[in-house]
Amino acid sequence: MRLAERVKALTPSSTLAITAKAKEMKAAGIDVIGLGAGEPDFNTPQHIIEAAIEAMKQGHTKYTPSGGLPALKDAIIDKFKTDQGLEYKRNEIIVTTGAKHALYTLFQVLLDEGDEVIIPIPYWVSYPEQVKLAGGEPIYLEGKEVNEYKITAEQLRGAVTTKTKAVIINSPSNPTGMLYSKQELEEIANVCLENNILIVSDEIYEKLIYGQHKHTSIAELSPQIKEQTIVINGVSKSHSMTGWRIGYAAGSQTVIKAMTDLASHSTSNPTTVSQYGAIAAYKGTQDPVEEMRTAFEERLNIIYDQLVKIPGFNCLKPQGAFYLFPNVKEAAMKTGFSDVDEFAKALLEEANVAVIPGSGFGSPDNIRLSYATSLDLLESAVNRIDEFVQSKL
Ligand code: PLP
Repeated sequence: MRLAERVKALTPSSTLAITAKAKEMKAAGIDVIGLGAGEPDFNTPQHIIEAAIEAMKQGHTKYTPSGGLPALKDAIIDKFKTDQGLEYKRNEIIVTTGAKHALYTLFQVLLDEGDEVIIPIPYWVSYPEQVKLAGGEPIYLEGKEVNEYKITAEQLRGAVTTKTKAVIINSPSNPTGMLYSKQELEEIANVCLENNILIVSDEIYEKLIYGQHKHTSIAELSPQIKEQTIVINGVSKSHSMTGWRIGYAAGSQTVIKAMTDLASHSTSNPTTVSQYGAIAAYKGTQDPVEEMRTAFEERLNIIYDQLVKIPGFNCLKPQGAFYLFPNVKEAAMKTGFSDVDEFAKALLEEANVAVIPGSGFGSPDNIRLSYATSLDLLESAVNRIDEFVQSKL
């Protein structure tokens, strides 16, 4: 069968490849510690599960409006108001099948053939593929390690062309865990306003912020910036609801209407029972969100101190999300590997620790380690990595 050209160019998710190999090794009885996870290791809070069960018992098992239940849109509107002081109307919100599908739908309605989307490196693996599937062209801009892997307004200005349609800002970032400050966002937003560029602000890790750091949504900086921003968010990471598949986009009525029309022909609606769960997530107690955040922070503080002691591991301390993104080029070179991909492969095969090579995120000198797993396992994993490196020096 001859497949469509646009699909032939699709790169499968690099995060999934190593996870599949780790699973294979586990099935063969090998004691592998997986640090590849992109989801919280906690169960969904009980009151959310109960609300979903109750909804099904009440007969809420049918289609909903394509853009989501009005009650869920209202809960999202309240969340924006409480957290960011932002005012949205129902027709400025679409509920989607996870944040991933909000982004997919957005690029489909936004991009014509050859339109450029600026994607900072390191990037979340799906951005370039989704842009390409929509006929757009990813324009990569390197967030330098000295600038905490973030792009600057100056860099952005230099990359703008007449074809630039949008820029993606992901703060806190997957894979780096870094946050853009209010001032950095202001400078970036000004370039976007000057050049009429849409800002796609992926805020899926908004609730996982550590230390003294604070999350700022670029949309809250001014009414003009808000008008030119589509905020992407969801309950997957904040409420440990990855499998429920509920995300959303908020922004211009025109864009949201186009996305809703497209959704009416693709998903029909996000899963009904999950939408009821998401209403409970936003309307009910937020205590579990804070409990999970605290647990992540505790793990981060312990594991970071151990990780940076490994020879040749250079790591900025993450400010949010649940990933560490050390530059391990020096470790790979000193231990005799030709590159970090080979180093990561050997870590899995010889030390039985699965990490994600940074090459999949556009950053070939790094590896990504997720700390969405128990402290015991994390400590064992870091010990194994340390012993592996020491044994080869
Ligand atoms: N954006 C980023 C940066 C992510 O890391 C993820 C999930 O890994 C998503 C979006 C998608 O989240 P969802 O599970 O809601 O589709």
